[in-house]
Amino acid sequence: MMPPEPKELHVDTAAGPVVAITDLRKSFGSREVLKGIDLDVAPGEVVCVIGPSGSGKSTLLRCVNQLEVATSGTVTVLGTETTDPDVDIDAVRQKVGMVFQQFNLFTHQTVLENCTIAQRRVLRRTRAEAEAIARTNLANVGLEDRGNALPSQLSGGQQQRVAIARALSMDPELMLFDEPTSALDPELVGDVLSVMRTLAENGMTMIVVTHEMAFAREVADRVVFMDDGMIVEQGPPEQVIGAPEHARTRSFLERVL
Ligand code: ADP
Ligand code: MG
Repeated sequence: MMPPEPKELHVDTAAGPVVAITDLRKSFGSREVLKGIDLDVAPGEVVCVIGPSGSGKSTLLRCVNQLEVATSGTVTVLGTETTDPDVDIDAVRQKVGMVFQQFNLFTHQTVLENCTIAQRRVLRRTRAEAEAIARTNLANVGLEDRGNALPSQLSGGQQQRVAIARALSMDPELMLFDEPTSALDPELVGDVLSVMRTLAENGMTMIVVTHEMAFAREVADRVVFMDDGMIVEQGPPEQVIGAPEHARTRSFLERVL
């Protein structure tokens, strides 16, 4: 295998951002949980979002593909402003893969079916074409021989890798991960992180909400620390995790490291 190229080569700062978020606010009832988020993500960039439970990380991620509707502010994904009510959100969502803490696989369908349904229904691929693409992606996550299994016959780590293969089978231009390893037994975390690391090395643009500080340190181009609905600080991992400026970041890291 070819050694991975240095990551910097993949971050294309000259091209327009894949994600551009401006003064994003989100309230649930009277409670504002995102209090003015500004965040741009460049092509090929890997942004890890860290922060305490309840700080708004999932809500931020869900606003990117409009699983939550912003209260105000703008979110632009791949050049399309998704916060514009007239926009065809399905066209944008097709290009954005999302992987959740709970794998959300279709439990009554095989691994291969899980990885082909959306390809066939949304992208109108033929069965043969969809299956070939699914098999390639299953092989890339180390599950080439599990296509006929049901999700319940797999470990949590294998199920999460199926969820990643399923998302990749749609040829996404952006991948969103929301604590993809938090529901896993510790011994199963490594395989999932390793798949994500390879994806990052191959140039995928990724926003990853995670508590895995070693992963963030090694794989992130940028770490964003959120607290109480705001970005408190952001920068390269060696800065935000290695030498945080803010007391809130330091106290969070003391708790998780
Ligand atoms: P994190 O992912 O950082 O733990 P979340 O984005 O899930 O934080 O949640 C931020 C805050 O918003 C929390 O206080 C949570 O209870 C609240 N919240 C999230 N989703 C909803 C919802 N659908 N309705 C009401 N409150 C919500
Ligand atoms: Mg969350």
